[in-house]
Amino acid sequence: MIVVMSPNATPSHIGDILSSIESAGLTPLHMPGTERVVLGALGDERALAELHLEAFDGVESVKPILTPYKLVSREMHPHDSVVGLGGSVRVGGERFVVIAGPCSVETSEQMHDAVGAVVAAGAHAVRGGAFKPRSSPYSFQGLGQEALDILVECSTAFGVPTVTEVVDTSHVDAVAASASVLQVGARNMQNYELLKAVGAAGVPVILKRGLSATLQEFLLSAEYLMDAGCADIVLCERGIRTFETATRNTLDLGGVAYLKNETHLPVIVDPSHAAGRRDLVPPLARAALAAGADGLIIEVHPDPATAWSDGAQSLTPHDFSRLMDSLAPIATAVGRTLA
Ligand code: PEP
Ligand code: MN
Repeated sequence: MIVVMSPNATPSHIGDILSSIESAGLTPLHMPGTERVVLGALGDERALAELHLEAFDGVESVKPILTPYKLVSREMHPHDSVVGLGGSVRVGGERFVVIAGPCSVETSEQMHDAVGAVVAAGAHAVRGGAFKPRSSPYSFQGLGQEALDILVECSTAFGVPTVTEVVDTSHVDAVAASASVLQVGARNMQNYELLKAVGAAGVPVILKRGLSATLQEFLLSAEYLMDAGCADIVLCERGIRTFETATRNTLDLGGVAYLKNETHLPVIVDPSHAAGRRDLVPPLARAALAAGADGLIIEVHPDPATAWSDGAQSLTPHDFSRLMDSLAPIATAVGRTLA
């Protein structure tokens, strides 16, 4: 329920409503705006109806939130949220943010080469997997803590925020202590216990869309994170399963446009896992920028032919640099900045 206060509502009118919501066992939300105060009440709809909030002094109107997700909906929060990833890197504002790096952290040297190259080409933050959720149990599973230590070294050496995936509730504290941003991967989008633990970790989160998740399921997973206390959530469209087999997944740019309408959270695109092959990554990346995404997360490896995971879709540093150059005029055309 959204309670819009009239412009002349007093702090005591607001206080009365917040405490009534709370005493009915519901969660009150206070959202002061520039023109008027908006309050929210989350919880059992029947208890909400019994409160008759429309009859309280200072109330202009009471509206139900029609979507099943509440905290992440634009109805609740009309303005775009801007999410800090660490340092001065913020996603969701005018700047189009590019996160780049290898699929997996392999060695200190590989990671330093990769980070040096992507930062020189203009990346704002870097990625590298420490715990890898692989389809086959025989594939490389990630270096774990050793990779986290390498990420810390790189973040310090190059002064950039780092993004890495967390796959298990028991790893959340260690990953949050080492990385600037926690990634919840596609395979774990509906791992609700993981979402609760990650949401309570006190660090920003990139939530990737599940392989076969609807946009509503995606937003409900973001709602889990926010309900657990995390306000700094970035959604990531990374391609979904369709009947098409020519590409690894099908990049859902319609979904990106839909999400931008439906939620205040920033939305980024991962063209690497969508395409599965490096030649398709640059056009998908440019399309994402043109379609209104707030940023990209791209796999780049110093030597993709020897990559321990996802080499086929990884750009070389040279390809990445050319891609960054080609994004600049599109950013200008759609009113974004890259630098
Ligand atoms: C990754 O980012 O390397 C990854 C495994 O991504 P996804 O969860 O989108 O498959
Ligand atoms: Mn990968």
